[in-house]
Amino acid sequence: MDLFQKCFDYTAVKEAKAAGIYPYFHALETGQDTEVVMEGRRTIMIGSNNYLGLTSDPRVIEAARKALEKYGSGCSGSRFLNGTLDLHLELENQLAEFLHKEACMTFSTGFQTNLGIISAIAGRNDYIICDKENHASIYDACRLSYATMVRYKHNDMADLERVLSEVPDNKGKLIVTDGVFSMGGEICNLPRIVELAKKYGARVMVDDAHALGVLGEKGRGTAEYFGLEDEVDIIMGTFSKSLASLGGYMAASEEVVTYVKHTSRPFIFSASIPPANAAAALCALNILKEEPERVKKLHEISDYMRKLLRENNIPLKETETPIIPIMTYEDIRTFVICRELLKEGVYVNPVISPAVPQGQSMIRTSYTATHTKEQMEEAAEKFVKVFSNF
Ligand code: PMP
Repeated sequence: MDLFQKCFDYTAVKEAKAAGIYPYFHALETGQDTEVVMEGRRTIMIGSNNYLGLTSDPRVIEAARKALEKYGSGCSGSRFLNGTLDLHLELENQLAEFLHKEACMTFSTGFQTNLGIISAIAGRNDYIICDKENHASIYDACRLSYATMVRYKHNDMADLERVLSEVPDNKGKLIVTDGVFSMGGEICNLPRIVELAKKYGARVMVDDAHALGVLGEKGRGTAEYFGLEDEVDIIMGTFSKSLASLGGYMAASEEVVTYVKHTSRPFIFSASIPPANAAAALCALNILKEEPERVKKLHEISDYMRKLLRENNIPLKETETPIIPIMTYEDIRTFVICRELLKEGVYVNPVISPAVPQGQSMIRTSYTATHTKEQMEEAAEKFVKVFSNF
């Protein structure tokens, strides 16, 4: 049996390319912004997680450039040993203060943050209770942890209670949920999750990858949005979305952060965030603090697009976030619509199984505080044109 047989049998990519509908790995010929150049053409970007529009902010770029000059291109080691910069500590302190938590630690990516937290905090004797639509990194973290993972139906609080009531009393329990679900764009029911956690003696962890800079008046995320900052035990997030960089963080109590810092293998055995990325995230965080109006603008532009899509009968899924899924249901149709939109100068992300359930394929559109109404009008017009033909 040749180990590589599965690769030889993997023909879906070849077939999609031959049919001219392969939708992945399209290269940008410019930086990430509300408009980019792809295949030599001006393209409106509505598939980015650059929620606050800070990837192209001159202050963020300058901060990254200065850090590159001062500290060089990489850290050549783990945070645990030689790879800690004063810049990492500053970023962690600022984040802890911003998020109203005692302590914070950073990881090299958001994906690694979930792996690093969950695998350290939950072990063989523990239960991790997951929303079915949690991010892939949470599921992989559960596997790495050796804990028992149980799932509840998406955002279904009766099902969460059922699952919790079946976990033995003498086991440690961690409820993990996305704050804003990455594909569907819904907000989790944090008030009820917190209530149930108290009732059943569970700890609560929220993945705020899509909520930092998005939810709450000051952009502090899901817990701020619900006024529950003291009730969430662990907040994690990433620098790859609102904070225009790469990396991730966990904010929690001093004891929990100290424990994870000294026991988490994805943290200890991996190099730290490069200087330019740490400086970019720190600068973006300061801009978020100083310009909370960006959060408001993000919602205004998303609401405007939602209205345009609704008025034009584009089959959107109603959300209250800058993630607006547009239902296409079938995989091939999803790819065709993405291709046609790209031809028209609009980039969107195709989402098919396993990222969403079979038959629920969609186009995930996402918006940026610096998008203009004109860009939204142009994009909506293209949606109408493409949806009327496909
Ligand atoms: N959690 C969620 C909910 C996400 O959507 C993502 C990224 N798509 C991650 C974690 C991982 O973050 P990163 O891309 O920064 O590694």
